[in-house]
Amino acid sequence: MRSPTIVLVEDDTQLRSTIKEALQVEGYHVHACASVADARALLVHSGAKVDAVLLDLGLPDGDGAELLPVVRTHSSAALLVLSARDAEPHKISLLDAGADDYLVKPFSLRELMARMRVALRHQGTSVRPAVRQYRHGTLDVDLEARRVLRDGAPVHLTPHEYALLARLVRCAGQVVTHRQLLADVWGADCVEHTHYLRLYMGQLRAKLEAQPAQPQLLLTEPGVGYRLAEPTEL
Ligand code: CA
Repeated sequence: MRSPTIVLVEDDTQLRSTIKEALQVEGYHVHACASVADARALLVHSGAKVDAVLLDLGLPDGDGAELLPVVRTHSSAALLVLSARDAEPHKISLLDAGADDYLVKPFSLRELMARMRVALRHQGTSVRPAVRQYRHGTLDVDLEARRVLRDGAPVHLTPHEYALLARLVRCAGQVVTHRQLLADVWGADCVEHTHYLRLYMGQLRAKLEAQPAQPQLLLTEPGVGYRLAEPTEL
């Protein structure tokens, strides 16, 4: 199997070479660049061959966010935003605009590699078989069989609880915004009804978590959305 190709867009020289080196050690092919213009040229010319894009936002000639539509038009690459900005509305708009995940600086290389593996696993899910099974501790979800087991015993979920869990299973390990969850589970006219999520997430946690008040599985990304913990077994 060919090694995945990564485009790294980061203007901080030291951070760029640190990340590049770490990626190369893991066996990735890396094209690094430091500006919106260079990244745009690189993506337009080699788009189809790019598996993932690591995108810094504060670039000398503009906002990295400008590149989101370029990535989405020219490739099916996974897109991870590397951001120094922790503002929630901004994160949400990036995710809603097609970014797969974001890391807030400073982040550890370990965390970056883990997020990268998750993003690559989900990358191009329209052509690859979608995620159908999920296992975390004693929880076992099989979307094909519509079955949820906890400690080997079936868990009864309402249709909305199941739809919400299934949506998160398909993106396990990745953040999914409130808007995305509401649109996919309840429909486009319900995207403002975040109280649905609080209610149903509470019910799911009560049924699936060992300690619902300290969730290990259905994780809250404050102000942004939810993330199902990475599976413990694939
Ligand atoms: Ca920067």
